Amino acid sequence: MTIIDKKKQVAIKAVLKAGELCKQVQAEMVLSDTIQKHDRSPVTIADYGSQAVICKAISKVFPNDTIVAEEDANSLKQNTSLLKRVTNYVNSTIGENVTGTCICDWIDRGMGVVNNSFWTLDPIDGTKGFRRQDQYAIALAWIVDGNVELGILGCPNLPLSLDDSDSERGCLFVAVRGKGTVVYTLEGRNLGKIRVSENNYRLAESFESTHGDSSTHHKIAKQLGFNKSPIQIDSQAKYGIVARGEAALYIRLPNPKFPDYRECIWDHAAGLIVVEEAGGKVTDANGKPLNLLSGRRMTENRGVVATNGTLHEQVLSVISSM
Ligand code: AMP
Ligand code: MG
Repeated sequence: MTIIDKKKQVAIKAVLKAGELCKQVQAEMVLSDTIQKHDRSPVTIADYGSQAVICKAISKVFPNDTIVAEEDANSLKQNTSLLKRVTNYVNSTIGENVTGTCICDWIDRGMGVVNNSFWTLDPIDGTKGFRRQDQYAIALAWIVDGNVELGILGCPNLPLSLDDSDSERGCLFVAVRGKGTVVYTLEGRNLGKIRVSENNYRLAESFESTHGDSSTHHKIAKQLGFNKSPIQIDSQAKYGIVARGEAALYIRLPNPKFPDYRECIWDHAAGLIVVEEAGGKVTDANGKPLNLLSGRRMTENRGVVATNGTLHEQVLSVISSM
């Protein structure tokens, strides 16, 4: 087995386990909806729990691998009751009985620094979607010399087909450099390779209007002749949707209220390879490749554009003309 196959095997198992934890937290959030409506704790529990499960799984097999993840355990260590809840969820997911201190150590494995090879992890991307019982993703990528070599996107709530709202929910996108992007169900059923679409002229953008510049996105889509209504959806599920041909374009221009916003590497690394290996293209809004070596945030990039590939230059030229 090659090293990348081994990394893939470990990463898939870890993301699926984390997905089980997230689904359980989200389901229990529904049960106690009235008291939890304005409480961030279910999200926090799932963020920490997912990160603990994944960092533990990676560390067990690859103890020297660097992990750059969104969360750290600093505030969790100060909150005994929250730590207890996180610990209970993690133990019940992995079938062990470890201490809160051990959970915090696993979470803090994610405090690594960007270097020539590292994992980047968003334990729950789209936390606002998670709270709405809507879309979110668990995103894990392996990066070597600034290139994403492996990307796993677990989307526990995403229907297998957006056109069929009754279709089964739960997709796992797995992309390996040079090997394509494959979709699995959360039970591990292989649904085959996916490809971008050449003719599905549809825009995907964030559900959260503050995370982008929606009115400019719509102007761009209009200028490109798109006439379908945009798909507004949380998380890197948008990359999955472009990769499987349900949209030809995902744009994320900085919101005018936050012009200096710089994107985090874990919000894009896994999605980038999922789209590229399905035949698409990803750059920033100026056409520059995403620089995943500049730190936890992509300080040298502005916005993100993911397309089916053929549309890419045209989209960039429309953006530059605005
Ligand atoms: P999405 O679900 O695609 O809207 O993206 C969720 C991600 O948006 C979160 O993981 C945040 O890191 C990121 N985010 C938060 N604030 C902003 C902002 N002002 N502009 C762009 N992205 C943001
Ligand atoms: Mg995120």
